[in-house]
This record gives sequence, structure tokens and C-alpha cells, in this order.
Amino acid sequence: MSGENKSIHEFDFGLICEYFSGMERQGPGSPEVTVKALSFIDNLTKDSTMADIGCGTGGSTMVLAGHTTGEITGIDLFPDFIDIFNENSRRRNFQDRVRGIVGSMDNLPFQDEELDLIWSEGAIYNIGFERGLKEWRRFLKREGFIAVSEASWLTETRPEEIAGFWREAYPEIDTVANKVGQMQKAGYIPIAVFVLPENCWIEHFYVPQVMVQEKFLKKHAGNKAAEELVKNERHEAELYHKFKKFYGYVFYVGKKF
Ligand code: SAH
Repeated sequence: MSGENKSIHEFDFGLICEYFSGMERQGPGSPEVTVKALSFIDNLTKDSTMADIGCGTGGSTMVLAGHTTGEITGIDLFPDFIDIFNENSRRRNFQDRVRGIVGSMDNLPFQDEELDLIWSEGAIYNIGFERGLKEWRRFLKREGFIAVSEASWLTETRPEEIAGFWREAYPEIDTVANKVGQMQKAGYIPIAVFVLPENCWIEHFYVPQVMVQEKFLKKHAGNKAAEELVKNERHEAELYHKFKKFYGYVFYVGKKF
């Protein structure tokens, strides 16, 4: 890794987990956007089975649960997130149909053609957009849906400063048109594509972090790794403010073909 700004992947898991567990969501998004993406999906009943992959503490999953009646399994690598997830599910009285389990998106515990819907907000990048779309497809029933949000270039060209940042952070970032092409090639009919509004990044992601950062720095005073983590998050927020014309999160909704 070059330069002094680290990628989130290089930090201690425990610290990252603590930092993000104080937030409603662990990535850009909002309840309104979750509901909007869901509005393109028309095959759901109380017998449907759904998975939210890389669910974090369940910010998106609880919204999904409130607008559907079937069963939802949330899967995340971090046990602490799953504990909070299951607590959130109980608090909302969803515990009979919304369950969080610890697991990895590259080794999912589902049967072939088991799921009516695969959901994943701000998480598929961990396995890669193309790989995730291809590997998860077999778990969907015929004509089942997939809905994922993914960092994407909004314009054909962009300044080198932001291009360089993303080359380090996630080289698979690509234009919306190319991502739609990848979805089609992976065996889905592209049903809907929309750019997440700015409030998903600012009000729902970077603003809540300001308070988290203050508490976190106080608690870990003198801890270099904690200071670095906060510095990086602040740097990312600055980049977003400066370059938001050029990149964003985009929701991609597809139907298994
Ligand atoms: N979907 C949530 C969280 C997004 S952050 C939201 O929108 O709020 C990305 C999530 O992916 C984190 O919770 C992280 O723990 C999880 N993750 C990272 N690698 C993973 C893997 N291999 N398998 C499952 N989850 C993973």
C-alpha cells in the first residue's frame, strides 16, 4: 500500500467493529432507499425466503423486514454485528422471521434455488461485484431477485486524485453502464438502477460518524491505530465532499434469468 492513507481493510477488526457498531448503518444508505429498491421487486409473499448478505447490525434488514412478511436471514462476518442485529430484531418483534447468523459471503449456507431475494447493501465489494453476482446466483429460485448497492463511477472521466484513491480502496469500481453489463452477463435481467442520493452519504453515514469519532478518540486516547482509523474515515468524508460528482453508491436490481 502506498501513501499514508490506509485502506479500511488494513485496520484491526476489533477496532473497526467497535467504531461502526455505534452506527445504525455501516455503509451509505437510508430507509427510503431500501424501500425504493424493494419497490422494484414483485414476487414476495409470507412464504418467501430472503437473505441480507453483509448485513452489519441490520440497518437495512430491519427496513426490509418492516416492508415484507417472509423470512430473512442476515449474514455477516463479525459476531459483534450479528449480536446487535439479533437484539435489533427482538426489539422490533421480528425474531420469529428475521435471524442473524455469523458467516462469510464466499461460503453461504443456502441450498441451490432456496431464496426468493438476495439483498446486500454496501457489502458485495468484499467479494467483488462480478464474483458475488455470479456465485450467489445459484441460491436464487428461477426469477428470484437480487438487489445490491455498489460504489460506482458516475462519469466517464474523473480527476486523478480520486481515481488513485479508489484504485487502492476498490479497483473493481466501474461505471454504471459497465456494472449493468456485468449484471447482465452474470445471468440477470437488469430491472432497475438508481444512484443513491447524497443524504445517504452525508446525513446517514458521515454526520453520525462525527459523534462516534469523538467518543472513540476519548476512549482510545493515545492509541495510534484508533487515531489512524478516525483520520482515515475523516479523509474519506473529505474526499466525498470534494469528488461526489464523480462517484457514488448505485443500487442494482436484477432478476435471475
Ligand atoms: N449492509 C450493512 C453493512 C454494510 S458494511 C449496511 O448497509 O449497513 C459491509 C459489511 O460487510 C460489514 O458489516 C462487514 O462486517 C461485512 N463483511 C465483510 N466481509 C464479509 C464477508 N466475507 N462475509 C460476510 N460479511 C462480510
